[in-house]
Amino acid sequence: MEIRKIINISAIVMFILLAVGPVGVFAATKPSKTLSRGIVSLTFDDGTRSILDNAIPILNAAHLKSTQYIITSFLDGRDPNYMTAAEVVRLQAEGHEIGSHTRTHPFLPSISAVEVINELLQSKQDLSDLGINATTFAYPLGGYNKDIVDAVKQAGYAGARTVDYGWDGHRCNLFRLKVQNIYPDTTVESVKAKISWTLGDHTWLILVFHNVRPEPSIDGTTTMVLQGIVDYLVKKKVRVVTVAEGLKLRSQLAVPPIR
Ligand SMILES: [Zn+2]
Repeated sequence: MEIRKIINISAIVMFILLAVGPVGVFAATKPSKTLSRGIVSLTFDDGTRSILDNAIPILNAAHLKSTQYIITSFLDGRDPNYMTAAEVVRLQAEGHEIGSHTRTHPFLPSISAVEVINELLQSKQDLSDLGINATTFAYPLGGYNKDIVDAVKQAGYAGARTVDYGWDGHRCNLFRLKVQNIYPDTTVESVKAKISWTLGDHTWLILVFHNVRPEPSIDGTTTMVLQGIVDYLVKKKVRVVTVAEGLKLRSQLAVPPIR
C-alpha cells in the first residue's frame, strides 16, 4: 500500500475517533448527546411537617418519587413543624430519595471552611446512622461558591442542587444543578409550560418546593397547585426521577458533565 493511502486511512480513522469518541466506537450502541426523553425531579426542602402531611399523600397516590432535602438537627422531634427521624426513614422506605440539606441550615458562604465541612459530613453521618445513604445535597438558602462546591465533592456527594434558575441539559454542572422554584404565586399553568419545554428539549427540569399547605401561605405553595402539577405529569406520562436517578441518567450521556 502506498504510504499516502495509509496516511489517508489513518486520517479517516482519527476523524471517526474524534467525531464519535472512543465510547461510541467500542460500545454496542452509541450513547446519545441528549436524554431519550425529558425528565422531571420534584425536590422538597427543609423536611417540614407540611410536606409530610400534605405533599407526600399526593405524590404517593400518583406513585411519584420525590427528593427530600433534610436538615438533620431538626430530626430529633423537638420542633413539631419538622419531620422526625422515624418519618424520614419511612419516606425512604416508600421510595423517596433522602438528601442532605446540612445539619443546621446555615448560609454556607458566611461560615468558616471548617464549619462548612462539618455541616456536610455530620449531616451525611446523621442520615447514615438512620440507614440512609445521602448521595445528593441542596445548598441552604441557595448559598454556594467555588470552595463550597469543592467541599461538597470532597464530602462524597454525587451532585448538588442550587436554587438558580435554569434547566439541566447535556451540559449541566452536577454540583450546580439549576432549578425552577415554586413560589407562593407560581401557577399550575406556568409549570405545565415548563414541563412541555422540558419534554420538547429532552432536558432535565428540577422543581423546588418548600411548604405545601391546603391554604395559600407566604412560604410555600398549596395542595391544589401540587395536585395540578402531579396530575399533568401523570397525564403526560412524564418520567419523574429522584435527583440521584437523574444524575445516573445524565452520566450515561456521551457529553461529559461539567464537574
Ligand atoms: Zn432550606
